[in-house]
Amino acid sequence: MSKVLCVLYDDPVDGYPPAYARDAVPSIERYPGGQTTPTPERIDFQPGELLGSVSGELGLRRFLEERGHTFVVTSDKEGPDSVFDRELADADVVISQPFWPAYLTAERIAKAPRLKLAITAGIGSDHVDLEAAIQRGITVAEVTYSNSISVSEHVVMMILALVRNYIPSYGWVVKGGWNIADCVSRSYDLEGMQVGTVAAGRIGSAVLRRLKPFEVGLHYTDRHRLPEEVERELGVTYHPDAASMVPVCDVVTINAPLHPETEHMFDDALIGKMKRGAYIVNTARGKICDRDAIVRALESGQLAGYAGDVWYPQPAPPDHAWRTMPNHGMTPHVSGSSLSAQARYAAGTREILECWFGERPIREEYLIADAGRLAGAGAHAYSVGRDGDTSEAPPSDHA
Ligand code: NDP
Repeated sequence: MSKVLCVLYDDPVDGYPPAYARDAVPSIERYPGGQTTPTPERIDFQPGELLGSVSGELGLRRFLEERGHTFVVTSDKEGPDSVFDRELADADVVISQPFWPAYLTAERIAKAPRLKLAITAGIGSDHVDLEAAIQRGITVAEVTYSNSISVSEHVVMMILALVRNYIPSYGWVVKGGWNIADCVSRSYDLEGMQVGTVAAGRIGSAVLRRLKPFEVGLHYTDRHRLPEEVERELGVTYHPDAASMVPVCDVVTINAPLHPETEHMFDDALIGKMKRGAYIVNTARGKICDRDAIVRALESGQLAGYAGDVWYPQPAPPDHAWRTMPNHGMTPHVSGSSLSAQARYAAGTREILECWFGERPIREEYLIADAGRLAGAGAHAYSVGRDGDTSEAPPSDHA
C-alpha cells in the first residue's frame, strides 16, 4: 500500500463553497489536434466543483482509501517544519501543482527515499528538480493539455484588459465615479495592432487562433516553425527569434517553457527593442522576465502595461514589486485553474494513478521523466544537466 502526499492551495477565505455560480461545465472530449481529454475508469466528483483546494482533494480520497492507500492533503509546504516536509519522509507518491507549488528540490528528494512518482496536477513541472528526479529514477508526469485552452483564454482577456484599460475603468465604477476621460485616456482598440507570441505550442497557437478574428497582425517566434498551411491559415508571420520579433509588435505574449534559453529573456535590452508603449502578457513563468526590468519599463513608459499570472516565487510575498508597479493587470496564478480546468486535471491525475497502481503504462504525452531519463512531453519541452538549474526551486530572493 502506498502513501500519497498531495499539496494543494488553501480553501477560499469564507470556506469551501456550498454552491456554485453555474450548475455544470461543458463536457469536452478532445483537445485541438485530437488528443482525448482524461479517461479515468471513473471519477468521484461533479465537474464544476472546486477540486484544486485542500478540501476538494482533487476528488481522490475515496478512490485511494478504498484501495488501502494513505492520502495526506495539505497546503503547508514551506520550510523544514512544514507538513509537506514531514510527510515526505515516507511518501511513495507526491501530487503537486504549479499554482501553489510544493518545490520538490534535490534536498527534498534526498529526504524521500520511498518516492517513486511525482504528479503535477496541471502543466509545468519546473517546480520539480528534474535532474534529481531522473537520477533517483522517479517518474514525473503531468496532465498535458488539461488547461492549455484555459490559459489561452486568460491571455486574450489580459491583452484586451490592458489595451482597453479595463481594470482602472472598473475601479472608477466601484469608487462611485463616472470619470470617462480618466478611463479612456489610456484606452485603445486592439484592431490593427501587431501581436506576437514567444512560442507557438499548445497555448501560443491557441492564442493566435483566438486573436485572428480581432483583425490584428499576428507574429510568432518558436524553435520550430509551424506547418506552412497553419501559418497561411492564421496569416501569421514567423520571426527567427524574440529580438527580431518584438520591435514590430504592439503586444507580446509569452508562452514558452522556462529553461536556460528563456530565463530572464525579457531584460532591459530586449524590452528596450520594443515599441514605446508596448504591452507584455506573460502567463508562462515569472522568471522568463527580469522582475526589476519590468518595473523600470512600466515606470518609464517604455511599456504601457504588463499582465500575467506567474510570479517568482509563488506565492509572491506581500512586498513583491509587481503588486504595486504602475499599469499592471496581474492576478495570482489562476489562469490554468478554472473550475473547468480543475475537472480535467483532477481526472487526469486519477488516470495517472489508476495506471500506476494498475501497473499499466502512463500515457506517453503525460510523461516528463521516466526510467531515469526525460520522456514523453518532457523530452520535448525540458532540458537537464546542460546550462544550469532553471527549476523554480525555492527562492533565495524574490526575483
Ligand atoms: P508546449 O510544449 O505545447 O509549447 C511550448 C513551445 O515553446 C514549444 O513549441 C517550444 O518549442 C517553444 N519554445 C521553447 N523554447 C523556446 C524559445 N527559447 N523560444 C521560442 N519558443 C520556444 O507548451 P504549452 O503551450 O502547453 O505551455 C507553455 C508554457 O506555459 C508551459 O511550459 C508552462 O510554463 C506555461 N503554463 C502556464 C500555465 C498557467 O496556469 N499560467 C498553465 C500551463 C502552462 P519546441 O517545439 O522546439 O520545444
